[in-house]
Amino acid sequence: MKQILPMTTTKSWFSAKNLLVFIILFFVLILGITLNNSSNLENFLEKKTEEYALDVTFQLANDIIKQFESYKANINIITTIMPLITKDQDEIWQNLQVSRIGGASAFDKVKFISRKEAPDLPYYTFQKMLSGSDNPTEPTIYYDDKQNLVYRKYAYHDGEISGMIIGVCNKLTFQSLIKPKSFDGQAISFIVDHNGKIIFAPEKRYSDLYDIATSEQILKSHFELKENIKKQNNIIYTIEQDKESIIAAYNFLGINDWGLLTLLPGDILSTEVDTYRTNTMLILIIASVCFIAMILLTYYAYNKHKQELEKIAYTDSLTGGLNKAGFIKKYESIVPISEPNTYTILLLNIKNFKLINEQFGEIEGDKTLKYVYQKIEKKLNLDEFVTRSEADNYFVCLKENDKKIINNRLDAILEDINLFDGEKQSTFYRIDIQIGACVISDPSQKIATILDHTRLAYSKAVEKETLSCIFYEKSFTEKLLKEQELNFLFEDSLRNLDFKLFLQPKIRLDDGTVGGAEALVRWMHPKKGLIFPSDFIPLFESNGKICQLDLYMFERVCNLMAQWQRDGRELFVVSVNLSRQHYFHQPDFLDKFYEIACKYNVPTNKLEFELTESIFFDIHQFAQVKESIQKMHQLGFLCSLDDFGAGYSSLGLLKEFDIDTIKFDRQFFLDISTKKSKDIINSLMDLSSKLGIHTVAEGIETQDQVMYLDKAKCDMIQGYYFSKPLSVPDFEEWLKAQK
Ligand code: C2E
Ligand code: CA
Ligand code: CA
Repeated sequence: MKQILPMTTTKSWFSAKNLLVFIILFFVLILGITLNNSSNLENFLEKKTEEYALDVTFQLANDIIKQFESYKANINIITTIMPLITKDQDEIWQNLQVSRIGGASAFDKVKFISRKEAPDLPYYTFQKMLSGSDNPTEPTIYYDDKQNLVYRKYAYHDGEISGMIIGVCNKLTFQSLIKPKSFDGQAISFIVDHNGKIIFAPEKRYSDLYDIATSEQILKSHFELKENIKKQNNIIYTIEQDKESIIAAYNFLGINDWGLLTLLPGDILSTEVDTYRTNTMLILIIASVCFIAMILLTYYAYNKHKQELEKIAYTDSLTGGLNKAGFIKKYESIVPISEPNTYTILLLNIKNFKLINEQFGEIEGDKTLKYVYQKIEKKLNLDEFVTRSEADNYFVCLKENDKKIINNRLDAILEDINLFDGEKQSTFYRIDIQIGACVISDPSQKIATILDHTRLAYSKAVEKETLSCIFYEKSFTEKLLKEQELNFLFEDSLRNLDFKLFLQPKIRLDDGTVGGAEALVRWMHPKKGLIFPSDFIPLFESNGKICQLDLYMFERVCNLMAQWQRDGRELFVVSVNLSRQHYFHQPDFLDKFYEIACKYNVPTNKLEFELTESIFFDIHQFAQVKESIQKMHQLGFLCSLDDFGAGYSSLGLLKEFDIDTIKFDRQFFLDISTKKSKDIINSLMDLSSKLGIHTVAEGIETQDQVMYLDKAKCDMIQGYYFSKPLSVPDFEEWLKAQK
């Protein structure tokens, strides 16, 4: 089953994701500012366009006014010179026309109409003029029905009206005159009266955009404009019409009730700016997109790199699977969100892996580690994972809580491992595994705690030397805490002499005298009270503190015996217990014991070491133990084999080891009613006597036992029947009472 690591992100605020969001927000902000800015620019341009339009139309209106004035001056001159004309009028008119009085602003046509002449000219209605609805002593101006501009003024002769001078300006000429020079041909001007009625319109070709209809529509719909025209106020408006904005400028011309109405597109200035603005926006957007794409690309590359690094960081190079950090990461992504009692963590350790390494070499050892990993992984289900955390330790997370099912699955794994199928194993060996497990009842608990609990369960399996899986219990931790406390108190207690020497006598069966005593420790803690050896000896055995304690007890014994010597008492053999840990920690430990004995001047032949039976069975210590017994004898000490019968009770020991005494364990004498057990005891006593080994029966509580042992010729008896272990003062009292 492939293990896929969950993609995780850093929990810190400053994550790549946040950075990306921040950058995108930043760009949105910039875009917003730009948009706002361009909207402001638009408003500004609108205002500027209006100002500009007003300037230009004002200028245009001025030009037109000047033109009107020039026409007026022109006609005035003609009327002034009229009285001088007497004959050959046609010729004169012709000359007048050719000379273009008034220069550029000369009329296209000038005519004198005498009162006698019939008014049949196409340019005006002579009748109407003569009827005198107006009095053209001053030049009057109007458009005729063909939109030609007409000036007229009476001509006088000898103080009498002799006729009328008519000056005509062609429609086309005037159309070109009122055409706005600016605005790129996009504007158009009309001459309107005070009612807003168009009285002169340029030709359509003058404006690409507007016509009379537009103008009329604007005038109709824009009341305010109309009102201002009526009042002959120069004014400018931007009018929204059919989704486009049109600037309408009105300039009063000062002739009749005429004014100049100019229409031009509202975006005349902004069109170009719009192009630039659009371009700028486009550039900005493209730049943003490129930048964001770049960031995304960087983010992607970073993530990929991170994933690769994570892969390296979370992979065990030996097995190719998860390492411990990867295991923890995966655990934290799955277990804390699970229901209680869903998962179980197991610690599997290959038993005696050291031997595999030693026997078959490290390459084979590594191969085995990988092989075991693969076998475990093969048997995992979804959401289950394994790591070789270090050396030959495997942590496994199973989605199980039932001890029976877990045991079955473990059996299957172990069976599979020992099949060695498909493996080109050069050497086959049996792989055994010691296992501790912890069912996760509280998924919120830290993984470090869970792993500690699993390790604790595993250490129980090691302690019990079992191959069955030990499941963590709360009592393990309680015991551990208690042990931690005792460990903590140990040094101080040793200094404060809180460890007390107790003595239990050994009575000779032949004469009933005290043949010896065993030194037993009692921990009298000022705060915790009396603590029995069973509560701390195994603990101090496991951490080696027992070596210090044994030396301490030995010194207490020597100290007491020295005192007895000084008191002139006859010494008997006192035995002290010697832990097997001495062999592990300090091979030359006997030197220290010897030094102490010398320091107190106690004869070594009155001191005996009790070695527990199990020491003799450790194959690695076999030679060492044998050697140490020889050394004990060289130094003059005695040696006894303790707890004989509690374990294997091998008679071979008696042959191999040169011991002085055998201490038969109390187990032997619990049931002495059957013939078989009596026969065994009798034979052992006989054998010992033949080998010259003294015998001590331990844990003797009843008279029956004493009587029987007397018959069996056991040398000495130790047990409650005679006395419990006693404190030194009590023991001395007890001794006195014996006499
Ligand atoms: P052990 O060496 O086999 O000591 C004999 C144990 O049997 C003592 O227990 C003693 O109190 C108990 N006992 C004696 N007579 C009787 C009896 O008639 N009936 C019963 N039921 N028990 C009896 P204790 O003192 O609790 O010591 C337990 C073990 O602790 C000792 O077993 C010994 O292995 C260890 N120990 C005690 N003191 C020391 C020490 O100073 N150093 C080391 N290394 N071990 C010690
Ligand atoms: Ca003992
Ligand atoms: Ca014993």
